[in-house]
Amino acid sequence: MGDPVARVALAIPVQNLFDYRIPPGLDEKVLPGSRLRVPFGRGVRIGYCVERTDHSEFPDLKVIEAVIDDQPLISEELMRLVRWTADYYIAPLGEVIESAVPRPVRDGKLKSIPWVRSLDLSIAAGKGSGKEVRQKILEYLAGVDQPLPMRRLKENCSSSDSPIRTLERRGALEVFRAPPPEFGIPGMEVVAGEEPWRRPSPHQLASEQREAIDAIGAAMDPLTFRTFLLHGVTGSGKTEVYIQCVSKALEAGRGALVLVPEISLTPQVVERFTERLGPVSVLHSLLPPSERSLHYQRLRSGEVKVAIGARSAIFAPVPNLGVIIVDESHESSYKQENTPRYHARDLAVVRASQSGVPCVLGSATPSLESLENASTGRYQLLSLPHRISGRSLATVEIVDRRADRSRALLSERLIQEIGRTLAREEQVLLFLNRRGFARNIHCPQCGFVLRCEDCDIGLTYHKRSDRSLCHYCGSVKPLPRECPDCSFTGIRQQRPGTEKLEETLQSLFRDTTIDRLDRDTATSSKRLEKILRKFRDGETRVLIGTQMIAKGHDIPGVTLVGVIDADLALSVPDFRAAERTAQLLCQVSGRAGRGVLPGRVLIQTQQPEHYAIAAAKEQDLEGLRRHEEATRRLLAYPPYGHLARVLIEDPDEQRAIESAAGIGEQLHSKAEKEAKILGPAPAPLARLRGRFRQHLLVKSTDRGAIHRLIRSIVGYRPRWSSSRVTIDIDPQSIV
Ligand code: ADP
Ligand code: ZN
Repeated sequence: MGDPVARVALAIPVQNLFDYRIPPGLDEKVLPGSRLRVPFGRGVRIGYCVERTDHSEFPDLKVIEAVIDDQPLISEELMRLVRWTADYYIAPLGEVIESAVPRPVRDGKLKSIPWVRSLDLSIAAGKGSGKEVRQKILEYLAGVDQPLPMRRLKENCSSSDSPIRTLERRGALEVFRAPPPEFGIPGMEVVAGEEPWRRPSPHQLASEQREAIDAIGAAMDPLTFRTFLLHGVTGSGKTEVYIQCVSKALEAGRGALVLVPEISLTPQVVERFTERLGPVSVLHSLLPPSERSLHYQRLRSGEVKVAIGARSAIFAPVPNLGVIIVDESHESSYKQENTPRYHARDLAVVRASQSGVPCVLGSATPSLESLENASTGRYQLLSLPHRISGRSLATVEIVDRRADRSRALLSERLIQEIGRTLAREEQVLLFLNRRGFARNIHCPQCGFVLRCEDCDIGLTYHKRSDRSLCHYCGSVKPLPRECPDCSFTGIRQQRPGTEKLEETLQSLFRDTTIDRLDRDTATSSKRLEKILRKFRDGETRVLIGTQMIAKGHDIPGVTLVGVIDADLALSVPDFRAAERTAQLLCQVSGRAGRGVLPGRVLIQTQQPEHYAIAAAKEQDLEGLRRHEEATRRLLAYPPYGHLARVLIEDPDEQRAIESAAGIGEQLHSKAEKEAKILGPAPAPLARLRGRFRQHLLVKSTDRGAIHRLIRSIVGYRPRWSSSRVTIDIDPQSIV
């Protein structure tokens, strides 16, 4: 018998694991989830032990050099989740692990933490300086019957190290170092029971909220895996349901994981959670590295039991999980658009099932996938069809712009309604999903259009900074004074954006305070907060914005919402365009009339009869689903079939075509009759950041068939080494 062997995942774009010999000195320290330093090629690399075995099919294994942390970086529970992710999304396990653990945590070293255990609390606090603090500590410790992290004791007693050390010297307590509790130190469970800061609900629950909470509660005692689709119109009190579910988990001594689409856009949601539940760990990439690391460690040690975060928080190390919640679960930002291309909503369901806990997917506008899962009974549907306190949903009016030849941004009807709303001293929100001053800078004489040199798209003029910008790659050009092709001096701009809208509106309503929220004005989370605060305080009367204003904001004074161009989202070349349009319009409409006054929504469109617009008018996603069902079934598009995409990119067009053709042949040679292969063909966005793009789609009603086919090209080298191949399982965007 030789030494034991570790299967190790390295963070390199290679699918296989590597076997290493565990030297006798490290035998006890190399566990599944341990972070290791291993020789690789001519250098050393960081790797993660996935499992231990006692044999390897390879002779002459290299030897592990060192174990980095005092305990495994990846807990058993997380190891199951990252392995599932790597397998399903066909991504290298090492890369999945690296994206699951925030960089600041990986840059540091995971240590054991100091704990405090009571020995003899009858010892007196003594005299002299620090007497009060010592007394407080003794009293506090008398109320807890288990060891607790020293940091927790310091916080709760506003103490520094020294009073604790003094008490230790006198024999009242003992300080010892140990790993966080999730690693099973005997007698050290996560402390259950009442937390002093938890506030009761200020509300009397509506009966539908009650029913939802009871249904989810039934899956929390006894703890069982079940997925709930909480379908509640905007303002129906979903957040209250989330808070009460998390509270239930805490009462049972368990933790909770809450996913939100984009933390920086929804500071209010986080506020509402902390207000009611006390400390929560907020995980997002805008925090300074040291804070990120601290939040993470606090979760791991069980000091804080609730994690709120965006997409990547699905991997948060919440020990002893009791419930997973996904707010606005239809949001496409839950899909990661680089490797590993996971969907956090789907991983939430997987993690819940692995841990045997309930998962709540909330939304006012569920995706068709979720609606389908609810209709087949895979998810349990919970509905909140009414707004709180009998407030009605806003009335939606469609403004038909086909007959309007003026091509003005604002119809007479919308201008009139803005005027009336302002005269009543109420607030207006205007939605235009195109920032900048004007897209499409063109020459009316020869047809020249100012384009990005690297992307297949026209540039957008930004007036304030006086330059033309590519919204895909950020490259900049000055605005030509004359046409570069024919020297005509009358270059025109079409398709106005938010900047132009602001200018137009200001000229119509001179004395009104107008503000704008888009990526040009909200350049930091501070600025974003400031713009929103001024609007909430009523200082700003009209707020113009891109989709950044569509999400979650609760501003009671808004009684009019205007959608400037509903057709923008409809024109995206993607089979989900209608669904996305309806969702977006419903969300924007949901911003109107959230206070005591009723709201009104005006939607300007050239396609007033389109079913997506109708669905938005009625706030009826079920109607949209019925409409889409026939086509999507016929074409085996989700949710009636599964999809994978292979994208091939190359700086040279011919090489992109040839590499794609090679991969196409490989796929076709393995073709199964259950799966259909489309392409290769140029992607709708045929050039991006200087690369030509070709793609293939694989469709099937059988997930297994798709996986088998796609696996057949893993490790396959494209014809040209300059070509980059990307695999996307369940793609959310196929442009
Ligand atoms: P949603 O998340 O569905 O958009 P919210 O949870 O934000 O809805 O609720 C909308 C508003 O109603 C919030 O201001 C919230 O504080 C309030 N609210 C929630 N539940 C109740 C209730 N049972 N009674 C009174 N007000 C409530
Ligand atoms: Zn570009």
